[in-house]
This record gives sequence, C-alpha cells and structure tokens, in this order.
Amino acid sequence: MVRVLVITGAGVSAESGIPTFRGKDGYWRNLDPIKLATSEAFARDPELVWQWYSERRQRIRNAQPNAGHEAIARLAQRADEFLLVTQNVDDLHERAGLAKAEMVQIHGDIFLTKCSRCGFEQEQEHEQEQNGVPRCIKCDALMRPGVVWFGEPLPLREAQRVENYLQRDSCGLVIVVGTTATFGYIIDWALRASRRGGELIEINPEETPLSRFATRLVRKPAALALPRLVDELM
Ligand code: NAD
Ligand code: ZN
Repeated sequence: MVRVLVITGAGVSAESGIPTFRGKDGYWRNLDPIKLATSEAFARDPELVWQWYSERRQRIRNAQPNAGHEAIARLAQRADEFLLVTQNVDDLHERAGLAKAEMVQIHGDIFLTKCSRCGFEQEQEHEQEQNGVPRCIKCDALMRPGVVWFGEPLPLREAQRVENYLQRDSCGLVIVVGTTATFGYIIDWALRASRRGGELIEINPEETPLSRFATRLVRKPAALALPRLVDELM
C-alpha cells in the first residue's frame, strides 16, 4: 500500500472520554480551555493551570484507546511508509500500538514536565501527581506541562520531522481526523502531502476549513468511521 500521512486532533480521543477543547465538555470549572492553555494563564495562576493539567492526566490514564486509534495503528502496519502527526497530548495512539518512530506529537506530551526557564524536562512519575507547583531541580524556576500552549511556536525537532517526511516524497493517502484545522500548518501539511493527486480524506462530524480541499468527506465520529475506512483500504 501507498505512502500515508494521518493527522489527528482532539476529536479522535473524544470517544475515549477525553473532551475536546471546543466541544460541550471542554470547559473546566467554568473556565475556557482556550484561555487556560496559555502562558498568560500560567503566569497569572500557575497553581490553577497545574490543577487542570493534573486532572487531565488522571483522566487520560483512566481512559482506553478506541477503535479509531486501533484502526490507525493497523493502517500503519500495512502502509509502505507511514507518519502520524497528532495534535493530541495524550498517549492513546501509543497505547493502541503505534510506534513512537511513526508518530510526531506536534503539540507536545502531557506526561512531560519541563522548566519554564531553562527547558529541563522530566517524565511525570506514574500515578504520583505533585501537589502545588513543582520547581526545576536545575534552576529553581517553575515547572510547566510539556505541551505547546496557544501562541507558542511549534517544537523545532518535531516540526523538522514532519518537514523531512513531506520533502522526501508525496503521499498517496492523507487522512485528517477530529481536528478543527484552525492552525494554518495543519492545512498546509495536508495539502502538500497530497499534492501529486493523493487522496485527501477528512473524517469529522462538522465542516472545517479543510473540508473544501478534501477528495472525500466522512461526516461521522472517528471510532465508527476509521475502522470501516481502514478495512476498505486494506
Ligand atoms: P478541537 O477541540 O479544537 O476540535 C475537535 C474537532 O474534533 C472538532 O472539529 C470536532 O468537530 C471534531 N470531533 C468531535 N468529536 C469527534 C469524533 N467523535 N470523531 C471525529 N471528530 C470529532 O481540537 P483540536 O483541533 O485538536 O485543537 C485543540 C488543541 O487542544 C490541540 O492542539 C491539542 O493540543 C489540544 N487538545 C488535546 C487533547 C488530547 O490530547 N486528547 C484534547 C483536547 C485538546
Ligand atoms: Zn530550569
């Protein structure tokens, strides 16, 4: 089978019980995630932001990958070449069996903790969440979650891995699932990957800015649509 690029957003984990930011369950204690996931919110109230992330980590630990994550892992095994670019910070793609080498977490990893000043990184010890705001063991500045907040640049190494994959060759199949595609680079990558006549399939119950470029639209939830699509392709 062909060279494949899959791009996922929060919608692919929605059916595992992880709320999307813009969906009806996205709000936390009446607070808008779009405002919480910023360096401004962290500067104003680091403790509040950490509480939100601790709860989200716990929810993700208790969640299981769904049939959509599993279908993507199956597709990866069949493809000639495969890359998943996920905006998700959860670990459900990995727990569904996808190798780290086949995926780029372009918005970071919620289980990483990094220093807000020197960038020192630490993997969060399983199950033992800290109380309050942790401090860097190297420079004593406040530690923050290892994710990309709104308004922050993409991590260089991860962005470069996507670039390398796109530059090496075009893709015969591009699937974009569960993302509002509000970030320009998501649309850019999908269009560049499919530039030589590759199929561009969007799976999302709602219309997005990418919809008009898709060669095929599937207006269904990911856990239903992805297994069917992957069966059909194989
Ligand atoms: P978003 O919350 O902005 O949008 C979610 C998209 O998924 C919408 O277009 C919606 O129509 C679609 N959707 C909802 N349910 C679906 C389903 N069952 N099947 C298919 N599609 C469905 O998410 P986003 O575009 O990924 O951007 C928000 C940012 O927030 C991301 O950058 C990400 O880093 C972060 N985030 C991550 C997680 C996670 O890791 N699971 C969850 C929420 C937010
Ligand atoms: Zn530090």
